Amino acid sequence: MTEQSVFQRLMSYLLGTNKKIFHEVHIDQEVVNEMLQIAQEAYPNEFVALLEGKVKEEILHITGLIFLPGETSNQGAVMKVFMMPLVGDAVGSVHSHPGYNANPSNADLYFFSKNGVFHLIISQPYDENSIVAYNSFGERIDFIIV
Ligand SMILES: [Zn+2]
Repeated sequence: MTEQSVFQRLMSYLLGTNKKIFHEVHIDQEVVNEMLQIAQEAYPNEFVALLEGKVKEEILHITGLIFLPGETSNQGAVMKVFMMPLVGDAVGSVHSHPGYNANPSNADLYFFSKNGVFHLIISQPYDENSIVAYNSFGERIDFIIV
């Protein structure tokens, strides 16, 4: 069994009832604009939201943000979100970091491993180049803005 097929099986498992795999991630430009704007407005606090999306023809397409109460805070924003079950079409998360480091913290990695299949971290200056995508293992993955 190749590494890729193990990965795909895991993705399929994580997607639960969907039982679908994806090889590519597309994020709507509108969603990107919205999260960059919110990240800027929330600064110096973190903002956090869930990502809404669907897998179709092996492409994970991110189409919206799902906000939860208390979406900004000085710390622990991610923890709060991930204490809640992923609802509806939620497939992962996005959160911002104050500062120029978009690497996941240990807490981020833990929650990535437990919830969802696709996660974004946005660091300063909060532009398209400061968005970094991760899979459940905290490994960087590519995405396309559509
Ligand atoms: Zn973080």
